[in-house]
Amino acid sequence: MITVFLIGAALATELFPIMKTPEEWRAILSPQAYAVLREEATEAPFTGPYWNHHAPGVYSCAGCGNPVFRSQDKFDSGTGWPSFTAPIAPDHVGTRQDFSWGRIRTEVHCARCGGHLGHVFPDGPQPTGLRYCINSAALRFTEETDQK
Ligand SMILES: [Zn+2]
Repeated sequence: MITVFLIGAALATELFPIMKTPEEWRAILSPQAYAVLREEATEAPFTGPYWNHHAPGVYSCAGCGNPVFRSQDKFDSGTGWPSFTAPIAPDHVGTRQDFSWGRIRTEVHCARCGGHLGHVFPDGPQPTGLRYCINSAALRFTEETDQK
């Protein structure tokens, strides 16, 4: 679990393989997806399409399509946000320290486009003990049958 945090720190330079202007992002994202991915908004709990979603498949970044989480790592956290114990691969997401709202939290973003996904907390279940608390609006789900 420590590796995830160290990789995140290295990505804090804010350069990503996919970079667009705010106008370009607005043209391709819904208003809610734009607010979350590009402005780090947080959707209201129990409102998004994926907090209570259990189908097998892959959750990709709604901004660029980068696969970021999968259903095997999803669990019911009771928070009203989609929650995962781990990303689909360590280098598909980045993290950085977030000092907003007077709290120290670890922000989680897409490693390809830098889009804000949510936060990770050290109070998750095994095997990782981590809880990736992710906004539905930042994700796009693909059924397992569409994979491979
Ligand atoms: Zn992305």
